Amino acid sequence: MGMKDIELFQAALDLSKPWVVSASVFNSEEKTLRLKLDFPPGSTFCCPECGAEDCQVYDTKEMTWRHMNFWQYETHISARRPRVHCDKCGVKVVNVPWARRGSGFTLLFEAFVIKLAEDMPINAISELVGETDTRLWRTIRHYVSKEHDQLDFSDVTKVGFDETSQKKGHNYITVTVDLDTSNVLFVTEGKDADTIKRFRDELIRHGGDPKSITDISIDMSPAFIRGAQEHLPDAEVTFDKFHVIKLLNKAVDDVRREESKMNELLKGSRYIWLKNQANLTKKQKKDLENILGLKGMNLKTVRAYNIKLAFQELYSQDEDVAKAYLNKWYFWATHSRIKPIKEFAKTVKAHWEGILEWFSSNVTNGVLEGVNSLIQEIKSRARGFRNVQNFIAIIYLKLAGISPPQPT
Ligand SMILES: [Zn+2]
Repeated sequence: MGMKDIELFQAALDLSKPWVVSASVFNSEEKTLRLKLDFPPGSTFCCPECGAEDCQVYDTKEMTWRHMNFWQYETHISARRPRVHCDKCGVKVVNVPWARRGSGFTLLFEAFVIKLAEDMPINAISELVGETDTRLWRTIRHYVSKEHDQLDFSDVTKVGFDETSQKKGHNYITVTVDLDTSNVLFVTEGKDADTIKRFRDELIRHGGDPKSITDISIDMSPAFIRGAQEHLPDAEVTFDKFHVIKLLNKAVDDVRREESKMNELLKGSRYIWLKNQANLTKKQKKDLENILGLKGMNLKTVRAYNIKLAFQELYSQDEDVAKAYLNKWYFWATHSRIKPIKEFAKTVKAHWEGILEWFSSNVTNGVLEGVNSLIQEIKSRARGFRNVQNFIAIIYLKLAGISPPQPT
């Protein structure tokens, strides 16, 4: 190899003294490039513990790191990694400038993998770079956990909790989002009251104060309610309006399903009762208008639907009339003689304060709904998570607001 090649690689690797490129070997059959790095005899190094300069080399060990490809050549760097003898600290392993300790990848290669992982399934990256996904996951988890550890939660005041599943129906995770910034703060396994305790611990670990949390938004699950009372007792609880309306939609759907057994007209009409009118297709709109126009039928489904619309209207009321409005609605719903609607009204009564709290807090999990759909997207793109920790790492990488990887 000529002087030119050495200089080229030297510049490309941005090596600091005393490290130099001492050899490069292309293997055109294997399509590999091996770069050998070395230091001149008599070189000294800093002590990795106390920073003392000019420590003598004690011994060395041959090591190899996977690097970014040069052209189409799979590139590996090898070097004898020294241990130094420090007068104060004894014999210590020197940190090499191109890789972090314990990693078989160079920093540049790691940064490349992490950057790709923001948009590409790990299986695909694994194929692209020719490394096992296990090794790639280790790199990603290390990076994400280091970055996530450094996040500052001291300004967090409003948070929303929501559960989602890793696979359909099992492996639940609870996601906590900062409702002001939309950043994912914390993801943990499970959907029980303890998830809120774990968030509280994490908040403190990141410089936050549980007493500074003024508002939390949750669904009406008893586990979250208990967790909030026990672990964030200073926060006002708002029951998320999307979850409340979802529950009401289910009640309306139950009514429709029961009634459609005796009424052909309602068959196949499921979505027209659940979707907002603005989101209906032309045909659905026409079907809805047709059914609503049949005045004489006195359909329970239509009555339930009207009660639903009235409940949704609650959220457009002014704060000073909201309570009176809800009272009126409650009277109507409990006298509807429609069982699923009466049951929903009972649930509203049991969560009265937290539903009305919305008018002063204005917090909703709307942000979380957005986050959740991104999580579903992550999930659908990559089936090969292997475990829930990897899944959580990718959620943090994409949604926690951690800084992008820096190769140096
Ligand atoms: Zn030292």
